[in-house]
Amino acid sequence: MKIFTDPRLLQTGLVGGMISRHGGDMGDFSLQARALDKVGVPFGKIVHFHQTHSTRMVCFSSEKELQSFPAEPLQEADAWLFSPAPAGWGAAVVTADCVPLFLWTQDASAWALAHCGWRGVAAKLPLKLATAFKEKTNMPLFAWAGPHIQPCCFEVQQDTAQEFPLQTIIRRGQKQFVDLNAALRLQLQQAGIPPENIHCSLDCTSCDKENFFSWRRDHQRNRLLSFVYKP
Ligand SMILES: [Zn+2]
Repeated sequence: MKIFTDPRLLQTGLVGGMISRHGGDMGDFSLQARALDKVGVPFGKIVHFHQTHSTRMVCFSSEKELQSFPAEPLQEADAWLFSPAPAGWGAAVVTADCVPLFLWTQDASAWALAHCGWRGVAAKLPLKLATAFKEKTNMPLFAWAGPHIQPCCFEVQQDTAQEFPLQTIIRRGQKQFVDLNAALRLQLQQAGIPPENIHCSLDCTSCDKENFFSWRRDHQRNRLLSFVYKP
């Protein structure tokens, strides 16, 4: 089992990243608990939601709110915002080609994690989340887009391509591909995150079969886990 992460995130004292496919299908909570245990994160202190490719966010500002957040039935949402972030709690998203987007402040006092599929990016979830985050803190934000499907593999038809700014579309012959990193960068910068604070993984979930599940490649419901936990 490998963890793909951003060293800048770990330097803050937060624990987080994406677990490689060696942990198994992270849609299965028993496998997820086992994988998190291996990295020293208590599954019982990780909150989950039912992802619907929406722009709905869940925001926490106290441990009390986290304790009363219902585990069942799972609430529908696609982004977490912890500000101020209580210690001893974390959150998860699952993906298989979509972007796990991580945001944080350097002192780890606040962080966010989102599931951004192409629908979420087209609906401007990254912009909405970063803007909400900026309203809660005066500190500069840092961003990392974890492994996801890259423009080598993310071919789209015209109806999808037209949801994205022209500069994020790559044409090869008659085919069009979306560069989700480029789309994310545009939105995060629009929210006021300095370009140098935004790092994006170039790992492609569809190309790298050894490390990742991919919906586009496999058409199976296996999911990868991304998480953030504040010890
Ligand atoms: Zn690829």
